[in-house]
Amino acid sequence: MSALLQAEGLSKSFGGVEAVRGVSFELDAGRILAMIGPNGAGKSTCFNMLNGQITPDAGRVRLGGIDITGLGPAAVWRLGVGRTFQITATFASMKVRENVQVALLSFRRRAFSFRGFAGAACRGEADRLLALTGLADQADRPCGELAYGDLKRLELAVALANNPRLLLMDEPTAGMAARERAALMRLAAAVAREKNVAVLFTEHDMDVVFEHADAVMVLDRGERIAFGTPQEVRRDPRVRAVYLGE
Ligand code: ADP
Ligand code: MG
Repeated sequence: MSALLQAEGLSKSFGGVEAVRGVSFELDAGRILAMIGPNGAGKSTCFNMLNGQITPDAGRVRLGGIDITGLGPAAVWRLGVGRTFQITATFASMKVRENVQVALLSFRRRAFSFRGFAGAACRGEADRLLALTGLADQADRPCGELAYGDLKRLELAVALANNPRLLLMDEPTAGMAARERAALMRLAAAVAREKNVAVLFTEHDMDVVFEHADAVMVLDRGERIAFGTPQEVRRDPRVRAVYLGE
């Protein structure tokens, strides 16, 4: 059986800058892949090609064997590619539970032509997602009152409401303290395994990467220079030279 996500020879230039050059990789359901590399290595550009935000100059993206290259972000999202966004996208005055209910409702409307009202309909499921993401005791608070780390959990709960098969998390722990970073990734890893969701994330904290990723891909100046288990990548002389500064 083919992998859930197949990226094949992805390339993208901006003007004269080759941001990504011929990057290929695969990711199976329920697995966690970290994409690492220095600033400007092309990580975000890869994410943007995977979720249809930008169309690659060359290469293909397949999800569950279906070619989704160039479909655009809305269509790719409908096919089950979720992405965590900055929480500014949520509504500060809305309660935590309501935010998840709105996300669930929009998923149901689309997936099942659901016509019901948010109130009771999605409440149970919203509470399950809040329990899963450790936010049960915050359900009735306005989002604007949440601590930063809890907002990140909410971002994850909202992304999961779309029932994704693949979750893209570009620097999900930016701005968090070390302990919170580890906790958020532990949570994402647990959710991936429980719901059989594939997770692709970028992260600067190598302790977090090596602890939570099943596989690590290293980009440098737009090219894939290594791919393997955390142990393999950690030992790779090219990675040590280019990325770890040895
Ligand atoms: P990373 O996420 O690894 O830091 P990016 O994918 O954001 O790297 O950027 C890779 C390269 O592409 C950088 O040189 C960056 O300046 C350039 N780049 C990214 N997006 C754009 C854009 N929209 N327009 C022009 N250059 C871009
Ligand atoms: Mg980036």
